[in-house]
Amino acid sequence: MDCIFCKIIAGIIPSKKLYEDDLAYAFADIDPKAPVHLLIVPKKHIPSLAEIDTADIALLGNLHAVAKKLAAEQNLSGGYRTVVNTGADGGQTVHHLHVHLLGGRPMHWPPG
Ligand code: AMP
Ligand code: ZN
Repeated sequence: MDCIFCKIIAGIIPSKKLYEDDLAYAFADIDPKAPVHLLIVPKKHIPSLAEIDTADIALLGNLHAVAKKLAAEQNLSGGYRTVVNTGADGGQTVHHLHVHLLGGRPMHWPPG
């Protein structure tokens, strides 16, 4: 298991946990890019959005439902941004699928 997010889910690497259910685990990003910057990850190791299959559709929907729940808990009533970086050109650095939840300041468009 040479995956930093699998180790976080397993409790081998510490994290600031915000949420957990059968399918997902959410924790604070270690290098926040906004006042609120959380990561929501599937417990199943999937390297990226480019490597999902139809059996993962419920899992993917759940990640976004968790984002909604956490955004409400974090008082992001003015809005927020969810981001999934995929592959080298997408800016992905950790190869375990994750949804960034960013909020607490206005976001810019287009992203870099
Ligand atoms: P990405 O560049 O989309 O793959 O995002 C990876 C994210 O994981 C970055 O925002 C990192 O700051 C974050 N990250 C890396 N290691 C840790 C860690 N040990 N705990 C929390 N967040 C982490
Ligand atoms: Zn993993």
